[in-house]
Amino acid sequence: RAKEQGKNNYQMFTPEMKVMAFHRLILENSMRKALERNEFSLVYQPIVNSNNLQITGVEALLRWRHPEMGDVSPADFIPLAEETGMIVPIGEWVLRTASAQNKAWQDAGYPPIRMSVNLSARQFLQPNVNRNLVKTVKEALETTGLEAKWLVLEMTESIMQNYDNTIETLRQLQEIGVRISIDDFGTGYSSLSYLKRLPIDALKIDQSFVRDLTTDPDHAAIARAIIAMAHSLKLKVTAEGVETEGQAHYLRDLKCDKMQGYLFSKPLTASEFESLLRAGKPYMLASGSPGFVV
Ligand code: C2E
Ligand code: MG
Ligand code: MG
Ligand code: MG
Repeated sequence: RAKEQGKNNYQMFTPEMKVMAFHRLILENSMRKALERNEFSLVYQPIVNSNNLQITGVEALLRWRHPEMGDVSPADFIPLAEETGMIVPIGEWVLRTASAQNKAWQDAGYPPIRMSVNLSARQFLQPNVNRNLVKTVKEALETTGLEAKWLVLEMTESIMQNYDNTIETLRQLQEIGVRISIDDFGTGYSSLSYLKRLPIDALKIDQSFVRDLTTDPDHAAIARAIIAMAHSLKLKVTAEGVETEGQAHYLRDLKCDKMQGYLFSKPLTASEFESLLRAGKPYMLASGSPGFVV
C-alpha cells in the first residue's frame, strides 16, 4: 500500500515510528553478532519449596549487554529474536549454557536442583529433522552430561498455536526425561479439558495473580482454582513474582508447591547463586521484620 501512494508514502511514518524502526534495525543487526561476541549471559533465580523454603530449583534468565547500548531488556529483544528467528540459535546457546551450569554445580557437590529454561513457540517450529527442538535438547544434555530429569522446559500457552505437532514434540521431550512446565499460566486462553490433553508436568501461576493475592479476592480465587485444578491433574504448581511475606504465607496456605520471586532473591549471577548453594540454608520468612535471612 505504501508503494501505491508513491512519493507521499513517507507520510505514513510519524517521526516516532521512524525512530522505532531505526532502533529495531540497529537492535536486529547487533543481535546477529551478539552470540559470537559473547554479549549474552544468563542469570539465575532460585525457586524454593513452599514448605521448607529450601532451594529446589532455579530459572535461567537471558541477559544481553550491548557494548554501547548497555543492558537491553528481554522484553525488547526477545520478541525481536522470535520474529527474526534468531531465538533458535540463541535458544540453543541458552539450553547448553544452563545445562552446563547445572552439571557444574552438581559436580561441585551441591545437592542437585532442577534448572528451568524458557522456550519460545518459535523454537517448536523447526521442521528440519536434522535440526529440531528435540534434537537440540538431546544434544545439550549429551554434550554437558546433565541428566534429563534435572532440566525443565518452560513455555507459555502460545506454543499451542500449532497444536498437533506441538503435542508430539512435547511427548518426545517427556520421553527423553525432561520436565515440561507451562509458564505465565492464567494469562492465555486455557481450560481444564485443554490442559488435560497436554503432556506436561507443572505450571507457573502468572505474577499478575500473585501480585494482588492478598488484596483482590478475585485474584485470590483464581490462584486457588488454578492450584486445585493443577493438583487434580497431578501437576506441580510454582507461583512467580512472590514479593511479600503476606503472599508467601497465603500461597503456602493454598498448598502451592513452590515459589519464586524477589522476596527470596532477584536473579543472580552464577557465582552469586553458588554462594547461596554453599550457604545451604533455607530462606527464612522473618515475619514482623521486613527482611529475610539467607
Ligand atoms: P518469565 O519466564 O515469566 O520470567 C519471570 C520474569 O519475572 C523475569 O523477568 C524475572 O526477572 C521477573 N521476576 C522474578 N521475580 C520477580 C518479582 O518478584 N517481581 C517482579 N516484578 N518480577 C520478577 P526477565 O528476566 O526480565 O524475563 C522476562 C521474560 O523474558 C521471561 O518471563 C521470559 O518469558 C523471557 N525470557 C527470559 N529468558 C529467556 C530465554 O532464555 N529464552 C526465551 N525464549 N525467553 C526468555
Ligand atoms: Mg519462565
Ligand atoms: Mg513466567
Ligand atoms: Mg511472567
